[in-house]
Amino acid sequence: MSTSPLHVNCPTCNATVEWKTENEHRPFCCERCKLIDLGAWANEEYAIPAPPEKQWSEDPQSNHSLGPDTLQ
Ligand SMILES: [Zn+2]
Repeated sequence: MSTSPLHVNCPTCNATVEWKTENEHRPFCCERCKLIDLGAWANEEYAIPAPPEKQWSEDPQSNHSLGPDTLQ
């Protein structure tokens, strides 16, 4: 059997990463890239068309408010 390590690309910086058990951050190249990727989701930097709750609104004037009391 070949002992050549499998290589993958880091989803964050696209660096070549050896897929090995010692690399606990795989498929990321490092902890930083892993945190960046998770943080990107948390900060909604990924393109999200619209939060589900906004689709419930039938009144276009209330799109930017959580309720009638916030209009003041
Ligand atoms: Zn990386």
